[in-house]
Amino acid sequence: MDPVKRNVLLNPGPSTTTDTVKYAQVVPDICPREKEFAGLMKGLREDLVKIVHGDLEKYTSVLFCGSGTINIDICINSLLPEGKKVLVINNGAYSSRAVEICQFYGLPHIDLKFPVDQRPDLAVVEQTLKDNPDIGLVHTTHNETGTGILNPIREIGALVHKYNAIFTVDTTSTYAMRPINIEEDNIDFCMASAQKGLMSFTGLSFVVGNRSIIEKSKDFPKRSYYCNLYLQYECFEKTGEMHFTPPVQTIYATIQALKEYWAEGEEAKWARHTRVFNAINAGLDELGFKQVIRPEERAGLVSSVIYPDDPNWSFEKIHDYCYERGFTIYPGKISTTNTFRLCSLGAIDEADIKDFFVVFKEALVSTGVQVPVQYKD
Ligand SMILES: *Cc1c(COP(=O)(O)O)cnc(C)c1O
Repeated sequence: MDPVKRNVLLNPGPSTTTDTVKYAQVVPDICPREKEFAGLMKGLREDLVKIVHGDLEKYTSVLFCGSGTINIDICINSLLPEGKKVLVINNGAYSSRAVEICQFYGLPHIDLKFPVDQRPDLAVVEQTLKDNPDIGLVHTTHNETGTGILNPIREIGALVHKYNAIFTVDTTSTYAMRPINIEEDNIDFCMASAQKGLMSFTGLSFVVGNRSIIEKSKDFPKRSYYCNLYLQYECFEKTGEMHFTPPVQTIYATIQALKEYWAEGEEAKWARHTRVFNAINAGLDELGFKQVIRPEERAGLVSSVIYPDDPNWSFEKIHDYCYERGFTIYPGKISTTNTFRLCSLGAIDEADIKDFFVVFKEALVSTGVQVPVQYKD
């Protein structure tokens, strides 16, 4: 096995993968309608439930071919009962995406907005649920990847269940990194895609959730054909297959990634991501950078950094300098503040971050940015 050039990706996914995961895609050609392939997907589906400590009787996972956004689309369009409305608890770009999905399907919804650098106010959430007994589905994002804020999903979920609604959580940027317990965290449905916490490739996304709600959703209004949760679930239950062609090579890679996940272990993996996150923050602090989210509210996976006030600062130039040397940094996703992001996912460790900061500092100095960086206020 020849080593593949290793890039350190500090963008919010896809993430750096191991060579063993990369090479797992190289397999003899196979028709995914063969029993052999259905057998592989059965084990994969169970593993995806086990990662969030779900009881296999009560919870299941449903696979889709698409990027992570397909999961948000599927959950919202498939899990809203007739005559009910969606409540989106929105403090960032990914929850705003859920609002756009409601708009595109013409679904009645409430866009309950909070500032992007603050956690949602639970009293306001509860009052909204109380005032709107027709809310049937509540959606929010666990780690708002645009800023890196951690939302209190367990507390929100308890309120959602008190008012008898279904709780869907976008866990795309925490799943298989920050430990989740689907039942204790009061989640009915969570979601992710293979290229993030699992450290595999793009093309495979999945929803993990409550089997009895999926079965009930058989009678909910159908709003999409390709992206209907019940239809895909039913197909898996009857045939063990996806309704339409699966992302074959990504599935092989993801099965290898899961072996590596269990070998590393939930706790050790989260400890590694935390080491990386701490190293990133220490490096940023040393250079004088300010961040958007208060330390105690960070999800521990995304650092959202405010541009310094320096006439020579150019994100593009810094990006290109780092990129040419194997490190990828990423623009921000906040409309009101200019930011960039450094993320702690992927098969990387502290030593990679040390190497990164050598290059990053060189980039600052060589483009004439004053170090430590300066802010006007
Ligand atoms: C990455 C991500 C997604 C999915 O984005 P895609 O570009 O569709 O893969 C969705 N939600 C969150 C919170 C994410 O971080």
